[in-house]
Amino acid sequence: MDRIDPKLLAAAQATYTDTHLFIDGAWVAGSGGRTLPVVDPATGEQIATVARAEIADLDRALAAAARGFATWRKVPAFDRYKVMRKAADLVRERAEGIARLMTTEQGKPLAEAKLETLAAADLIDWFAEEGRRAYGRVVPPRADGVQQVVIKEPVGPVAAFTPWNFPINQVVRKLSAAVATGCSIIVKAPEETPASPAQLIQAFIDAGVPPGVINLVYGVPAEISEYLIASPIIRKITFTGSTPVGKHLAALAGTHMKRSTMELGGHAPAIVFDDADIERAAKLLAGAKFRNAGQVCVSPTRFLVQEKAYGRFLEVFTQVAQGLKVGPGLEPASQMGPLANARRVAAMERIVEDAVSKGAKVATGGKRIGSRGNFFEPTVLTDVPMNARIMNDEPFGPVAPIAPFKDFDAVVAEANRLPWGLAAYAYTSSLKTANAIGAAFESGMVAINHHGLALPEIHFGGVKDSGYGSEGGADAIEAYLNTKLITQVGV
Ligand code: NAD
Repeated sequence: MDRIDPKLLAAAQATYTDTHLFIDGAWVAGSGGRTLPVVDPATGEQIATVARAEIADLDRALAAAARGFATWRKVPAFDRYKVMRKAADLVRERAEGIARLMTTEQGKPLAEAKLETLAAADLIDWFAEEGRRAYGRVVPPRADGVQQVVIKEPVGPVAAFTPWNFPINQVVRKLSAAVATGCSIIVKAPEETPASPAQLIQAFIDAGVPPGVINLVYGVPAEISEYLIASPIIRKITFTGSTPVGKHLAALAGTHMKRSTMELGGHAPAIVFDDADIERAAKLLAGAKFRNAGQVCVSPTRFLVQEKAYGRFLEVFTQVAQGLKVGPGLEPASQMGPLANARRVAAMERIVEDAVSKGAKVATGGKRIGSRGNFFEPTVLTDVPMNARIMNDEPFGPVAPIAPFKDFDAVVAEANRLPWGLAAYAYTSSLKTANAIGAAFESGMVAINHHGLALPEIHFGGVKDSGYGSEGGADAIEAYLNTKLITQVGV
């Protein structure tokens, strides 16, 4: 793109350096000396490298995680809490620099990167607190003298696999739950956005987490996941990413009888009823759609608007899309950055072309911007037939299909038609309709008349092909705990 300010670019690239593996308390190169390129999505240029782990490195990480677990599980929950609170404060102090790294490697506007980093600090605090509340139970016995206690113990070394759309947020939920409960963890963070998650881990290290408790690797995802999941040292796996990869990893976890949490794709319906505040709905939904250039698992995706409201909704939504300033994330005025990688631009082009070839109309956008970097226009499609790919596959980008609907039953059938069930949205001024749609959605999360998802203290997770388990709220910590019964009688 020719709009990029060369001074900003130079400043970002000057601070962006190569990322290493973190194994057994030390930052190290891969033992084979191999690296992978890291590309700035705003320019398409390589800016650094990330170390590639070999099997020997994974063996070292596994051994370190086993030792780290033996140490960390004995540290009292209150002391773990103190270390984590310190890590959260360090993340807050360093938020500006971490956000710059994130924007440079991922593309999102700096303000979004900073919000993500600060939100990570809040998540660390939340999990730190929850770690102190991993209570057990005393169960009344049937016979005199018997004592029955049910206690919670850390599940053991965890393997976590995270994607590039929220480089820190996807790591911090898994890392914090593991560290709070006394587990150790090997994180395989995204190769495309390695530096910001590395800084998150640095904050934990600087806060006093001992060697071996946290290990960070990068490399070939399938090679790493297959090796770690099969290892008897790993007791739990957790993955965020696409549904096909999630199904593959869940099957591997089943083969090796590992507990797992799967936070997978979605195709969120966003339903606007005639009685809603149409302008408010259009503005909020457009804001949510184009955040992070649509590369969000809970992004509203199928916009279903009741007939009378359809025209006005489309008009306002399209105006918002047209008014968005698309540009490099480091430019303060940019409201939407480039897509995170070139694969997404190609995917958007395919999706739009497919819809148009089947009869869809482009209300705005529809094309990549320039030839430098991964910029794509905020796009609105209408008259999209049901057999178009965008109505059936997760778009994961800034393309919004908007369609009218007649009545409640028809829109519920459409909302629940797809195999996913992560997030669902509705706008209405009727309490009766709000209650009915909330109950009708087959979805792990429902937001009505606002977008209040992903706070630390509330459930985050899906149903159906969107996976299982929770990464938020009290349930999130349970996934890192085993339940043990001890029943005894005095002799
Ligand atoms: P992808 O499906 O190959 O990868 C998605 C993520 O999974 C990446 O971070 C990748 O490193 C990781 N991954 C892939 N194969 C793996 C394996 N065998 N073991 C461990 N990790 C593995 O494709 P992609 O091009 O990176 O992303 C495309 C799709 O992924 C998107 O369209 C979207 O549907 C989905 N995605 C979802 C999320 C989410 O937050 N749920 C995040 C990123 C991508």
